[in-house]
Amino acid sequence: MQVDVLIVGQGICGTLLSWFLHREGKSVLVVDAGLENSSSKVAAGVINPVTGRRYTTSWMADELMDFAGVTYATIAEELGTPLLYKKSIIDFFPTPQMRNTFIERLTENDTYLYAYPDQNHFNPIFQYDFGCGEIGPAFTLHLQVLLSQWQEKLKQRGQLRTEQFRPEDVQHEDDAVHYHDIVARKIVFCEGTGGTSNPWFSLLPFSSNKGEALILECDSLDRQHIYKRGMLLVPLASEGLFWLGSNYQWEFEDDKPSPTFYQTASQLLSQWLKLPFKIVDHKAAVRPATLERRPFVGFHPQFPNIGILNGMGTKGASLAPFFAHQLAQHIVYDFPIAPEADVHRFSRILSK
Ligand SMILES: Cc1cc2nc3c(=O)[nH]c(=O)nc-3n(C[C@H](O)[C@H](O)[C@H](O)COP(=O)(O)OP(=O)(O)OC[C@H]3O[C@@H](n4cnc5c(N)ncnc54)[C@H](O)[C@@H]3O)c2cc1C
Repeated sequence: MQVDVLIVGQGICGTLLSWFLHREGKSVLVVDAGLENSSSKVAAGVINPVTGRRYTTSWMADELMDFAGVTYATIAEELGTPLLYKKSIIDFFPTPQMRNTFIERLTENDTYLYAYPDQNHFNPIFQYDFGCGEIGPAFTLHLQVLLSQWQEKLKQRGQLRTEQFRPEDVQHEDDAVHYHDIVARKIVFCEGTGGTSNPWFSLLPFSSNKGEALILECDSLDRQHIYKRGMLLVPLASEGLFWLGSNYQWEFEDDKPSPTFYQTASQLLSQWLKLPFKIVDHKAAVRPATLERRPFVGFHPQFPNIGILNGMGTKGASLAPFFAHQLAQHIVYDFPIAPEADVHRFSRILSK
């Protein structure tokens, strides 16, 4: 079988890269192991333009959000299902200091922060002592819907193999990559945390961290907002279902849900949410994060047919459309990749 690009992994990165390449008329084959707790399958799919305790605007927020909006709308039209929902984040301040920081940022005229007019509005629904502010626009991407629907499309076109990819079986020449019965012009690894053991890219400064979430049923909670108090409470695709998370663990024994998180999160919820709810699931995954919080995009400095799209960290839903597009344009038209994301910035490390 001959293809233009062989893609390993169908999380958000492999999904979007295969979508952009397909639109450019390139043939692709995606190999995915079907990992149940991949980062993309556990994520809430929130696109939040603001980050951290100082309410700083995220890196490239305007550009990334605009691009993500157009991309997901186009895919949604093609798949015949809505994917992206506009929301605002109601931020319940955990301390008076956080409230002050928010107000300071408001007075600096931050684009994404708003004072919430009626501070008592959420009293019947949530317990909060220090008021609330509003962040917007934010979005939720229905990641599981996108992944599963795109998987179906790939299957129908004979472009998906559900199996573990074995990098040791790859043979590469200057103009081709051979893998079992497949001959590809290029191979791109979109393996999420699998990238940390990839023979060509494992030396990149990954900083993987584990995160967990509870899934709960709460029929009467308004779905037009995302709610935040320490953790995020996010409406999911299915009516009545919400996602609560998350935490960040850089040292962990395994990638499984832990009793400690369950206890902390359920306790937070019972002190915060006044409406009846029922916890129905508990999930965990490892985020493919990077030390300098920028993605890994592009081709190996020594092996120009072997590429990577990875390192989306906590922001796969907003970063992946922009950088999957850049990589596709690079493959098809040789357009440049943003230097902050291009793996060529690690040429020395990768040449060891
Ligand atoms: C708890 C939690 C909450 C999060 N919330 C958000 C959020 O709200 N918003 C946001 O933007 N981001 C969020 N993230 C981060 C987001 O999930 C990641 O940035 C993104 O999903 C990474 O996507 P990926 O495609 O790089 O990797 P993954 O989703 O991990 O996909 C990798 C794919 O590669 C496959 N694979 C790996 N190795 C092999 C192999 N050898 N052979 C075959 N297949 C292979 C796996 O099966 C998998 O399907 C969250 C993450 C976690 C853990």
